[in-house]
Amino acid sequence: MSSSERLGENNLPAIHGGRPLFSQRFRFIRPSLPPLESVMANYGPAFDNGLITNADVVAKFEAAVAERLQVQHCIAVSSCTSGLMMVQRAFGLTGEIIIPSFTFFATGHAARWNGLTPVFADCEADTWNVDPADVERKITPRTSALLIVHLYGNPANVEALSQIARRHNLKLIFDGAHAFGSQYRGRPVGQFGDAEVFSLSPTKLLVAGEGGLVTTNDATLAKAIRAMRNYGDTGSYDPEWLGMNARMSEFNASLGLAGLPDVDQRVRRRNQIAKLYTDHLASLPGLRFQSVHLSDVNTYKDYSIHVTPSRFGMNRDQLAEGLLAENIETKKYFYPPMHMQKLYKSFYDASRNNLKTTEEVTGGILSLPIYEALADSTIETVARAIHRLAQHAATRKEVSLSGRQ
Ligand SMILES: *Cc1c(COP(=O)(O)O)cnc(C)c1O
Repeated sequence: MSSSERLGENNLPAIHGGRPLFSQRFRFIRPSLPPLESVMANYGPAFDNGLITNADVVAKFEAAVAERLQVQHCIAVSSCTSGLMMVQRAFGLTGEIIIPSFTFFATGHAARWNGLTPVFADCEADTWNVDPADVERKITPRTSALLIVHLYGNPANVEALSQIARRHNLKLIFDGAHAFGSQYRGRPVGQFGDAEVFSLSPTKLLVAGEGGLVTTNDATLAKAIRAMRNYGDTGSYDPEWLGMNARMSEFNASLGLAGLPDVDQRVRRRNQIAKLYTDHLASLPGLRFQSVHLSDVNTYKDYSIHVTPSRFGMNRDQLAEGLLAENIETKKYFYPPMHMQKLYKSFYDASRNNLKTTEEVTGGILSLPIYEALADSTIETVARAIHRLAQHAATRKEVSLSGRQ
């Protein structure tokens, strides 16, 4: 019996000659935008009075975010990257900064723009967030800060990291690019560490077109960032800070403000989708999923599965190829990890710095389509595609084993 007969023609993966489960490709990502009328209702007055950047709507947006996140200060900036750059500069950081390697490279870029040496910490095998024990191991007399990511919106171990930062007198900064709408032990992400920085670009949870938010309970830092986003000038025409132009325009703030009321609903829908995927895929050998602490809320900015080739029957890249033949686009967020990238290789010394778990996890990571507008039936079909690829691989393995007897 050929493997196609055993599976039935209907079940033959497209990459092996079956019919694709989707007749055409659908989008991997799609930002959910608020109704244009609500954006324009915010923007209209700014447009009419001609104050179109860093004015009333920005201030209103900042106040609304600060209230939502229960944090004293929120400063809107041009991007998460510029926010991270300015926070590190304002703190006067020097020497080494500890960052995860399993993150988007903008995390590292911000440190490099400040001339800091990134020291990579390994991740945990289950949450995929940075491992606090490894963070502590990587501290040297030159370390000045920890820059930690809430990966995909899964809150990092805030408590353990805060204790480490206190114990070693280090600044603790969170790259919260994925985490607008996340909760750590029932409290909104945004109020932890010395500062948290969010991204409002179109792939993130709260979208302002472009933009970032710095949130902090440190009044001195807040004042510095307000100056720095405007060339460092506080009004005296004699700048106190080497700032830049990192202002947010009123239009971007209008978008962000209009999107704010929908964030919780969107996070709930993403959690439904994530659960649907996991429920449908959990029975397959060789797959594992990001684990989230019971009292935390993950935004699922991304939903990724992890493939162990020896048990699943094929590796991550083969699965991605198989899914593409079904017209299902996937991504490898975030592979290669930073310490394997051109700009960062030289900061990684394998003899001193073991990143085994990061390499194992990112080597198997595959991000599936997730956005609120995806129907349950689409998610189920994506899961079915993964099942039939796995089944085909298993059948072939059986055939080749029996052939050897
Ligand atoms: C998207 C992203 C950034 C950069 O955000 P921008 O607003 O585009 O500058 C930084 N860090 C992480 C982890 C990201 O995913």
